[in-house]
Amino acid sequence: MTAIRVVCRTCSAEVNSAEVDVAIRCSLCVARALVAQLVSEYERLWAKRTRYRRRGAPHAALEHQIGRLAVRIGGKLHERIRNPQRAGELLNQLLSEARQRADSSGGKILVPRFGHELVGEGARA
Ligand SMILES: [Zn+2]
Repeated sequence: MTAIRVVCRTCSAEVNSAEVDVAIRCSLCVARALVAQLVSEYERLWAKRTRYRRRGAPHAALEHQIGRLAVRIGGKLHERIRNPQRAGELLNQLLSEARQRADSSGGKILVPRFGHELVGEGARA
């Protein structure tokens, strides 16, 4: 069996031609696109959770919702990516990126307390 190497049009990774779809996207990018909507929902819930936590409001229901969503995203990734380790890695990456986005946009809305600047968050932008 000859393995032809092609370059993914989305992430530029070099993969076997058998691994890409008709749009020449690698399996990771296909999986990423597949869960994009769920990931943005995760991001939205995470930002909400951060706001609730800062206010000291109860957020146990939100935690459960976030947990269930993460499981759903993981399930979809595992359906799509044959290598369970890669699927797990992509899940962690997508969720941690979503949390970072949620936390940095939350930081913009929040007025920093006097003498308690959000140095790390602001410096990154
Ligand atoms: Zn790709």
